[in-house]
Amino acid sequence: MKKQIIKALSFIAVFALCVSMLVPLGYSEAKAAEKKVKLNRKKITLTTGDWKKLKLKNLDYEIDDIEWSTTDKAVAKVSRKGWVVALVKGECTIKAKVKATGKTYKCKVTVNAPDMSKRVIDPEKPIVALTFDDGPGPNTTGLLETLKTYGVTATFFMCYSNGSGFKVYSDVVREVYNSGCEVANHTQNHPQLTKCSVAKIDEEVNGNADKLADLVGRGQKFLLRPPYGAVNDKVRQNVNVPMILWSVDSLDWKYKTQANCTDLIMKEVKAQVRDGGIILMHDIHKTSCEAVKTVLPWLIQQGYQVCSVSEMFEARGVELEDGVTYSKCITAAEYKANKTK
Ligand SMILES: [Zn+2]
Repeated sequence: MKKQIIKALSFIAVFALCVSMLVPLGYSEAKAAEKKVKLNRKKITLTTGDWKKLKLKNLDYEIDDIEWSTTDKAVAKVSRKGWVVALVKGECTIKAKVKATGKTYKCKVTVNAPDMSKRVIDPEKPIVALTFDDGPGPNTTGLLETLKTYGVTATFFMCYSNGSGFKVYSDVVREVYNSGCEVANHTQNHPQLTKCSVAKIDEEVNGNADKLADLVGRGQKFLLRPPYGAVNDKVRQNVNVPMILWSVDSLDWKYKTQANCTDLIMKEVKAQVRDGGIILMHDIHKTSCEAVKTVLPWLIQQGYQVCSVSEMFEARGVELEDGVTYSKCITAAEYKANKTK
């Protein structure tokens, strides 16, 4: 009996101590209210391209009374309304500062690149295909690394012996393929096909495709980008694969010697990019591969899913036909309209 009383008393004592610690005397009401303010999330894990809304709970202030910031805007940015967009694999902290009290609330953000084998392209959201011509070359491997960090893919139109070519960089063709990017055809020697004989067209196109197949496997169709985008009826009748042109010319080859090359490329992309578009760049230029590090986070922030040409057309349910040229795919609105037909 005595033991039970002691037990009960000590329980009350501990409880009272806890309460006294939590609610110190003289605790003002205002302080108590302030203490209730908190971010809806203290920790979030996102995948590149994801958006998440953060908000301060139990706060009577307006949006303009909160100052949102990020510790690393390369990893994730935050809007003035608390929308977080995940840009690249990494970690950062999003802060919400209440101007009136000066108090800052934090949320730890982890951004992962998506597992490419499980990535799903949503046809009802904006899509853009990224393409690189004239490689592979000494910058291609580094570029693949950049694409991987942002969790995106691209199509590489490669030549056997133009510039460096895969005559020299055969391993890089396999790297492109193994990274989940699309290996595609840009002819053997980069001629203007409209000026070639029928036999030469066959040699340039099918010869290059055979060499690509030697490296990454037979039984697949390699899309063709005709050099200079030069196509006529003779080319159409003698090319037995879909031909991919572009809708966004980054003019990266022209700007490569300019000190502000990235800015100039960004200007072109911003002016020309649309849902369903195809962006043209060249991985043989180091400056182009550098610019991709600025182009990609901007596209992701605009809500674009960045992928290869084949992935975009497949997602939108458009079958690519042999001997036909394509400079863009249908838009999300056109896709939805087709669906309801
Ligand atoms: Zn080219």
